[in-house]
Amino acid sequence: MSDAFTPEMDSQNYSQGASAAYDAALSVIAAVEPRVAEATRKELADQRSSLKLIASENYASPATLLTMGTWFSDKYAEGTVGHRFYAACQNVDTVEALAAEHARELFGAPYAYAQPHSGIDANLVAFWSILANRVETPFLAKMKAKNVNELTEGDWEQLRHEFGNQRLLGMALDAGGHLTHGFRPNISGKMFHQQQYGTDPETGLLDYDVVAAKAREFKPLVLVAGYSAYPRRVNFAKMREIADEVGAVLMVDMAHFAGLVAGKVFTGDEDPVPFAHVTTTTTHKSLRGPRGGLVLAQEEFASDVDRGCPMVLGGPLSHVMAAKAVALAEARQPAFRAYAQNIADNAKSLAEGFNRRGARLVTGGTDNHIVLLDVSSYGLTGRQAESALLDAGVVTNRNSIPQDPNGAWYTSGIRFGTPALTTRGFGASEFDKVAELVVKVLSNTKPGTTKAGASSKASYVMEPGIADRVRAESAEMLDKHPLYPGLELA
Ligand code: PLP
Repeated sequence: MSDAFTPEMDSQNYSQGASAAYDAALSVIAAVEPRVAEATRKELADQRSSLKLIASENYASPATLLTMGTWFSDKYAEGTVGHRFYAACQNVDTVEALAAEHARELFGAPYAYAQPHSGIDANLVAFWSILANRVETPFLAKMKAKNVNELTEGDWEQLRHEFGNQRLLGMALDAGGHLTHGFRPNISGKMFHQQQYGTDPETGLLDYDVVAAKAREFKPLVLVAGYSAYPRRVNFAKMREIADEVGAVLMVDMAHFAGLVAGKVFTGDEDPVPFAHVTTTTTHKSLRGPRGGLVLAQEEFASDVDRGCPMVLGGPLSHVMAAKAVALAEARQPAFRAYAQNIADNAKSLAEGFNRRGARLVTGGTDNHIVLLDVSSYGLTGRQAESALLDAGVVTNRNSIPQDPNGAWYTSGIRFGTPALTTRGFGASEFDKVAELVVKVLSNTKPGTTKAGASSKASYVMEPGIADRVRAESAEMLDKHPLYPGLELA
């Protein structure tokens, strides 16, 4: 396993002047609102001095970050490349076309749409494009025949009825799915009749026979695959077979693991792009780009996806599309494959470290970038564990586990992810040490009590001295693998 590639790549960016660029930017900001400049400096210091294990976060390169701070931010560009509702979009056309080209090449996708502002927006674009493409209504027939002006109130009524009665089958939230996959509080759970597939209660693993049986019975228009907290790989060839059998569209949300697809850790049946009709992703998690979304699609869906703006999106964030182009160019470099492999290897090492120390992991381990720890064996809720770990400088997030008795707020799990610390250059031995430190915190923490003296699900009591000791041991590793090496602010 190569030690981190990204800090080395980034140091080249620093030698090209990133330190000077940030110093200049911060002094310009400070002249207007010094508290923002100060908070920005502090955010860097805080990120540098903590173990960031939030599975959905990463550290984008200075080139990507700097690209976002430009005058592209000021430009409106509703429409598509070469076909805008605003004048003077020639440079936005350049960066949007580049982002889409890099995405197509990187993922081997026939079509890419770089406008979604976030992962949720990418999913909204996907849903509406699937509805527009697959639901045959008199309205659409007229739209296609360009007789929009002849639409009657009855046509609109028919459209609302037919669009509003479609079905979606997605992974349950407590099994690791995302709230946009049909969870009730999200619009996806309201606009679709939805059902969910879970994981096997014994193994915690996806059971494709159960998914197939549900799909046969429910006959969804959309079968959604993808996850936020499932620590295993998915066989997308099987998911496509299921979708085809019931006439569903397969939509894969690879927001979490796009970096592992880009870095060719997930290939063959584990690469969703050739199998999904529509694939969505964020660009800021394992892919290590700016905050944003992408939609990839088979040719058949391209023109519907292209209507993302104005269908559900406002004007595209041109500065972020430019940064997507930069980050995707980075991800196309051969070194990104080593990075992606390191993400997966490090997750294995973290999981083995937990297993050796008697911790209980959902599914018993990992084969992606996520490790999901059931903290109930320490007598803690996820909320207590998250707070205690944060106290010790370990930044994680609490997460439901399958059939979680503590619900989605307190939870019984902690989700760990390896992309961010892998960017810093942490390797297998450091991730084993991370497991040791986490276990040290959790096994020395007990639930606290409420003001009324009852047992609390939120407060905790940690043995004195533990947080300081863990911080000191983390500092040794963090110093060895600095965040943005060479970037010094004045
Ligand atoms: N899809 C999945 C699977 C996610 O995990 C997330 C974010 O956590 C999203 C979509 C939403 O992304 P965003 O926060 O950029 O809207």
